Amino acid sequence: LPTIGVLALQGDVREHARALEAGGARTLAVRRPEELERVHGLVIPGGESTTMWRLARTFDMLEPLRKHLGAGLPAYGSCAGMILLADRIIDGAQGQETVGGIDMVVRRNAFGRQVDSFESDISLPELGDPPYHAVFIRAPWVESVGAGVRVLGRAEGGGGAGRIVAVRQGRLMATAFHPELTGDFRVHRYFVDLVRRAMEED
Ligand code: GLN
Repeated sequence: LPTIGVLALQGDVREHARALEAGGARTLAVRRPEELERVHGLVIPGGESTTMWRLARTFDMLEPLRKHLGAGLPAYGSCAGMILLADRIIDGAQGQETVGGIDMVVRRNAFGRQVDSFESDISLPELGDPPYHAVFIRAPWVESVGAGVRVLGRAEGGGGAGRIVAVRQGRLMATAFHPELTGDFRVHRYFVDLVRRAMEED
């Protein structure tokens, strides 16, 4: 079984661990650089990207995260985790840094106040039918992507129709929504498969 870490500095760590275990992985809460050596993949959960960034800096995790992702460690970021995986962000806090890795610009809190949180069914063709019930909580969207980034899904209806909300670039993927909250673990299974394939390649 692959061991998949969940970055456990802040955010909904437990929900992701449960979803990954349902998807066929072992999990490990990751707080220290050494723990990155013990996982075949990493989930960066939702929460608050500014807090996660500050804690990652305090715990000296920013550079180790960059190093491991750069060396091919698969990673999946949800919501705040998507922000952490973006090479560039808009509307970040003063000085807010990311880990980066996905060639995209992500707008923080993009969906705006009147739709701070909403749910909507979106189509994610790579995950098949039925459409995915996506939960957005003060979610970002992807403003633009580079040529190497595959768009997996876009928002439908609401204030952000057509905006990119799910992407993949090589072994890195990100969603603006929270698939760990609904019991439909196709996104986590997709990531576990990605991790399995990466283990075979390495
Ligand atoms: N708005 C949060 C941020 O900027 C993300 C919200 C979430 O992860 N649910 O990090």
